[in-house]
Amino acid sequence: MTDYDVVVVGGGVIGVSVAYGLARSGQKTAVFDEGDIAFRAARGNFGLIWVQGKGAGCPEYAAWTRRSADSWKEFNRELKSLSGIDIGYHRPGGLDLCLSSKEMSARTRLISRLIDESDGQFQGTMLSQEVTAERLPGIGPSVLGASFSPMDGHVNPLLLLRALHTAFQVKGGELRIETVVDISYEKSIFEVTTTKGRTSAKKIVLAAGLGNQNLAPKVGLNVPVRPERGQILVTERLKPFLRYPTSLIRQTEEGSVLLGDSHEEVGFDDGTNPHVMANIAQRARSIFPHLEKARIVRAWGALRILAADGLPIYDQSSTCPGAFTASSHSGITLAAAHAQDFSKYVAEGALPSQLEALSERRFHVH
Ligand SMILES: Cc1cc2nc3c(=O)[nH]c(=O)nc-3n(C[C@H](O)[C@H](O)[C@H](O)COP(=O)(O)OP(=O)(O)OC[C@H]3O[C@@H](n4cnc5c(N)ncnc54)[C@H](O)[C@@H]3O)c2cc1C
Repeated sequence: MTDYDVVVVGGGVIGVSVAYGLARSGQKTAVFDEGDIAFRAARGNFGLIWVQGKGAGCPEYAAWTRRSADSWKEFNRELKSLSGIDIGYHRPGGLDLCLSSKEMSARTRLISRLIDESDGQFQGTMLSQEVTAERLPGIGPSVLGASFSPMDGHVNPLLLLRALHTAFQVKGGELRIETVVDISYEKSIFEVTTTKGRTSAKKIVLAAGLGNQNLAPKVGLNVPVRPERGQILVTERLKPFLRYPTSLIRQTEEGSVLLGDSHEEVGFDDGTNPHVMANIAQRARSIFPHLEKARIVRAWGALRILAADGLPIYDQSSTCPGAFTASSHSGITLAAAHAQDFSKYVAEGALPSQLEALSERRFHVH
């Protein structure tokens, strides 16, 4: 007898997506989370459900991303009916803006590669400067064109996290604010030691973000991820002017405009830096000159969870069967796949061969 069928370590968007799927399928599931002291990418991200640009050279990842984005409509409907929360999900398609001819040619090559590698399953196209300006009125002359994919969308990531926590608990899941300090495995049972006591489970899912790196060896896994900081600025609420999310600027349902983002190697420092913020603001102003007058009301830094090649890491342990891990820097995009598919694999006890390309074993040099 164990306390739970599955213990999920980490109450960020990946942990709770998987845990929600498990609870929904009748597994007795607990989520352990560090609470407010944690580094949480789930609370500091841009909210894009983004397909374009992902998975060049790794068709399995591109297909996994498309699968999740295509499942989002039903996932959103389900979350709303269980939690009563409207998470602001929209899928109007999205644009990646090009600010130089070099960016335009690189983007053109990337989009055609993604179409080729997906046998046409990826839908994306390049837009000229004129067409980009028609789709995004008010855009400045520094934008030379864009790639467009109808598969992209966006959501309010904080409401998503709240809706997932609510839906998980509605389905009988238990959320426990306790830091996991140790995990042992004996006779097919995981013994989990937390700051408040001990508990046991038949299976364990490590979804602790940057914490996965330290926890994984306890169950015979290896998760080589590092932090990469991104800073985001938010303006006061403005009249709606942006019909489509872009990878650098998006307008929320409430009217605020999110300006992103940076890529900084600063270790575990999730603070902000005036120089980086000024660059983000400057770039946003050159894309939409009218933003010059908008007031910035908030800014923050958050840490991405990145593997060396930028792809997710999914694994199951061969020495401790029943232990799984999931890490990704696209936890919003992949939330539907984590809830609907990854949770099913955990419940069944094995990851499918399609996810083999995303195992940590890809880093082993033969
Ligand atoms: C600036 C920025 C912009 C981004 N934009 C996007 C975007 O537009 N679209 C997208 O798809 N993704 C985006 N991401 C990535 C996305 O935010 C992450 O992929 C996602 O949040 C990862 O979720 P997670 O649950 O793995 O990690 P986290 O959200 O970091 O959560 C990890 C959790 O694990 C818990 N934990 C850690 N150690 C322990 C322990 N020992 N015991 C118990 N609990 C523990 C912590 O309490 C924490 O809550 C962005 C990220 C950043 C930083």
